Amino acid sequence: MEFFNFGCCNVTTLMICSGVAVLGLAAFRYFAIIGRSCNSKRRLDGKVAIVTGANTGIGKETALDLARRGARVILACRDEKKGKAAVSYVKEGSGSENVVIKKLDLASLASIRTFSSEILDEEDRIDILINNAGVMFTPYCLTEDGFEMQFGTNHLGHFLLTNLLLDKIKESAPSRIVTVSSLGHVMGSLDFDDMMWSKHYQAQKSYFRSKLANVMFSRELGKRLEGTGVTTYSVHPGGINTELGRYFFAGWKIIFKPLYISTMWLLAKTPTQGAQTTLHCAVSEEAEGITGKYWSNCSIAKPNKLALIDEDCKKLWEYSEQQVNL
Ligand code: NDP
Repeated sequence: MEFFNFGCCNVTTLMICSGVAVLGLAAFRYFAIIGRSCNSKRRLDGKVAIVTGANTGIGKETALDLARRGARVILACRDEKKGKAAVSYVKEGSGSENVVIKKLDLASLASIRTFSSEILDEEDRIDILINNAGVMFTPYCLTEDGFEMQFGTNHLGHFLLTNLLLDKIKESAPSRIVTVSSLGHVMGSLDFDDMMWSKHYQAQKSYFRSKLANVMFSRELGKRLEGTGVTTYSVHPGGINTELGRYFFAGWKIIFKPLYISTMWLLAKTPTQGAQTTLHCAVSEEAEGITGKYWSNCSIAKPNKLALIDEDCKKLWEYSEQQVNL
C-alpha cells in the first residue's frame, strides 16, 4: 500500500510537472518567440503592392495578407512555376482575383531592368514595395553579373530594383518601402576593399554583411526621400521555419528530423507570424510617417551601431550605384 501511494504520488507529481512544463513552453513560445502581431485593420483597396520572393515563406504570407486587404499584389518571383502556385494560394486565401506573378531574378541586373520597365509601363502606381527575397549561407558562387551571390541578391538586387521603381513610388505617395533584413546583421561588417569576398569567402559572414547592407540602405534611402511622402523600414522578422535554411540545414534535417521538428516548434515562428513586422511597417497607422528605422517584433529596435554611421551609409549607396551602373 505504501508502495502504491508512493507510486501514485509519483505519477501525480509527474503529471503536474509535465503540465507546468508544457504551459511554460507554450508561454515562452507565445511571449518570447511569436511576439506582437500587426493589428492594423487598414484596407488597401485601389493600392498596388510588390513583394519580392513571394512564392514561399514570409513573402507568400505577406502577399496573402496584402491581398486580403484589397491591394493589387504583384508576386515578383524568379521561378514562374512556383510563382503561379503561389498566385493560386493567395487568390484562394484572399478571395481576390487581383493577384499576378511577374518574373524577377534578383541575381540578374538584366532581369531586374526588364521587370522594372514592364512594371513602369503596366502599373499606374506602386504604393508598397516589399524587398523580401533572400538567400542565406550559399556556397561561394556569383550572380550573372559577377557579384558574390548573397550580397548581389540580398542587397545589390534590391538596391537596383528600388531605384528603378522609385519615381513611380514617389508619384504614389504616401507610399512605403520595406526591406527585410535580419537580426544577423548585428554580426555583419563592411569592407569596401573586398565587399564581395574575393579573398576568403565565409558564407555566414557574407549573409550578415548583406543584411547589414539592407539596414544601411533603408536608412540612407529614408534620408534621401525625406519630404517626398515615401517612408522606409528595415525589418528583422524573427526566426521562422521557412526554406531559408536550405543550404545550411539540409543534411541535418534528414538525419535528425524529429529533433528538427520539435526545435522548430519551440523556437521558430510560422511564416504567417514571421510576416507580422513586415506588414506592420507596410500598412499600420503606428508606423506612418516614421522613416529609415530598423524594426523588430512590430516595434522600432536598435540596429548594429555600424548601421548608424551616416558617412558609411552614404558610401555604401555610392558603392552600390557604381556596381549596378545606376
Ligand atoms: P525562403 O527561402 O522561404 O524564401 C526566400 C524567397 O526569396 C524565395 O521566394 C526565393 O525564391 C526568393 N529568392 C531567392 N533568391 C532569389 C533571386 N535571385 N531572385 C528572386 N527571388 C529570389 O526564406 P524566408 O521567407 O525565410 O526569407 C525571406 C526574408 O526573410 C529573407 O530576406 C531572409 O533573409 C529574411 N529572414 C528570414 C529569417 C528566417 O528565420 N526565416 C530570419 C531573418 C531574416 P525560390 O523559392 O525560387 O528560391
